[in-house]
Amino acid sequence: MARPDVPGNTLIRSSPCEVCGARMLWTQSAFTLPDGSTHAAYECDNGHVIDPADTAQCPDCGLHDTIRTEGPGFKCQRCGNTFSMPR
Ligand SMILES: [Zn+2]
Ligand SMILES: [Zn+2]
Repeated sequence: MARPDVPGNTLIRSSPCEVCGARMLWTQSAFTLPDGSTHAAYECDNGHVIDPADTAQCPDCGLHDTIRTEGPGFKCQRCGNTFSMPR
């Protein structure tokens, strides 16, 4: 499954699903936007999806393994980078 140029677990979110505790996998087309188009998002084994707006892409490592901090900011759970993401 893992591509040779990517460490095997970069698609697995550091924190489990907040609803059921299952692991979350970055999945293409998992999230449907209000306009009907789809977007990649974290989806757990039981089908719970996190709004991709809540998992902004880290500008340093390129992963979406991020959490909201107070204010408009995010913190990357992979590299520890903090950044703000205007909406
Ligand atoms: Zn879940
Ligand atoms: Zn990062």
